[in-house]
Amino acid sequence: MIIVMNPEATKQEIDKVTAKLVSVGLDFHLSQGQSRTIIGVIGDKKTIAQLQMDVFDGVEKSVPITESYKLVSRGFKREDTIVNVGGVLVGGGNIGVMAGPCAVESREQLFEAARCVKAAGAHFLRGGAFKPRTSPYDFQGLAEVGLKMLAEAGQEHDLKVVTEIVDVNAIDLHCEYADVLQVGARNMQNFELLKVVGKANKPVLLKRGLSATISEWLNAAEYIMSEGNYNVILCERGVRTFETYTRNTLDLSAVAAVKQLSHLPIIVDPSHGTGRWKMVRPMSRAAIAVGADGLMIEVHPNPEIALCDGNQSLTPENFQIVMNEVEEFAKLMGKKLR
Ligand code: PEP
Ligand code: MN
Repeated sequence: MIIVMNPEATKQEIDKVTAKLVSVGLDFHLSQGQSRTIIGVIGDKKTIAQLQMDVFDGVEKSVPITESYKLVSRGFKREDTIVNVGGVLVGGGNIGVMAGPCAVESREQLFEAARCVKAAGAHFLRGGAFKPRTSPYDFQGLAEVGLKMLAEAGQEHDLKVVTEIVDVNAIDLHCEYADVLQVGARNMQNFELLKVVGKANKPVLLKRGLSATISEWLNAAEYIMSEGNYNVILCERGVRTFETYTRNTLDLSAVAAVKQLSHLPIIVDPSHGTGRWKMVRPMSRAAIAVGADGLMIEVHPNPEIALCDGNQSLTPENFQIVMNEVEEFAKLMGKKLR
């Protein structure tokens, strides 16, 4: 339920409403808009259904929320959420670009990738140290050594670091080295992991599951927010369909849908979304045009010898071209890339 207060509602009236909610064991989220306060009610569904909030002074109306996600929903909070990662903003007119190799392979590879993506204007260095691979015989990542390298490369090149966490027990380790905790497609419904990152003091990048509906995805974000972490960035990375030409079908309509359903920032990963480097450039333009708040793009100094996802990785030169175009498209959308 959301409770919409009158524009003239006093602080005392708002306090009375929230005190009532607390008295019946419910929690709430206050959203102070320009003209009015909106109170989002969280907690037991039966208790909420029995509430009679319209009788309180200062209440304009109470509206039941039918979606199971609440904190995530646009009804709860009208204004776009801007996630601030140590001064780098994502959302609300700020485009954030995360770029780098699929996996951290070596110091040379990572530092060269970091140098190039920084030069092209990226804000975040991406790279997996723990790789969820389909085959157990494929490169699994450099683990903690890789995390350390990411932190060092990020520092040296003034880039925020985003990397995937796959294990609830590795939360402290990731918090030590990463600026943003990435929950990958394969773990989007790993609810214990969602709860753990929800308690962490770091922004979370939540990728859409391989076959997740938009509602399942937003409910996964609700898990994180319900633990108190409101700094969630969504990432559309394609879903599995009957199509085989592309690795996944990049669902850009999800961006338009999420913009209506939620206040959270959403970025697009055209690398995993298509699996083909030649499609990354046009799909990056399309992502910005449809309203995405940023991009995640795989860039490798030498894609031919990449240990992971070389087919979808851009060379530094091609990444620069994409960034130049994205800057123009961002301007058209009234947004800032830098
Ligand atoms: C990744 O970004 O490295 C990755 C594994 O992506 P996804 O979880 O979207 O497959
Ligand atoms: Mn990859």
